[in-house]
Amino acid sequence: MTREDYDTTVRRLLCGQEAPLIEGQRHILSQCPRCQAIWLQRGPRQNLHLGADEIRIWVTRLRADLAHLPIRACRPCQLRLVGGEFALDEYADTTSGAITGYGISWEQGMPPEHFLVTGIRADWFLQQEKEHP
Ligand SMILES: [Zn+2]
Repeated sequence: MTREDYDTTVRRLLCGQEAPLIEGQRHILSQCPRCQAIWLQRGPRQNLHLGADEIRIWVTRLRADLAHLPIRACRPCQLRLVGGEFALDEYADTTSGAITGYGISWEQGMPPEHFLVTGIRADWFLQQEKEHP
């Protein structure tokens, strides 16, 4: 998969949003299906309390469509609904923006020290594509 194919796929999954790397962190504007909050993913952090002006700024900056944001449960709703937070992560080189790997994590709310994290290097995916086209 070329970088252009990858970017197109990401944009399609995010309802047309560009989700750029800003200071090495992927930024995604989403709407929670449970509480309807519009929230911003900033790398590993979530901004759950955006004001109307902030939402308008991020909609413009991310080229998002406010009527068609990705539907993703916010952290508080995940904690209430399933007792923890599940996340898919993408790791990028902060200088070049190259994708270096992906991660999957589960963090249980109570007790908080229960979590599962796994990571996959991007070059392993590329090698698999070559060996198993
Ligand atoms: Zn929510």
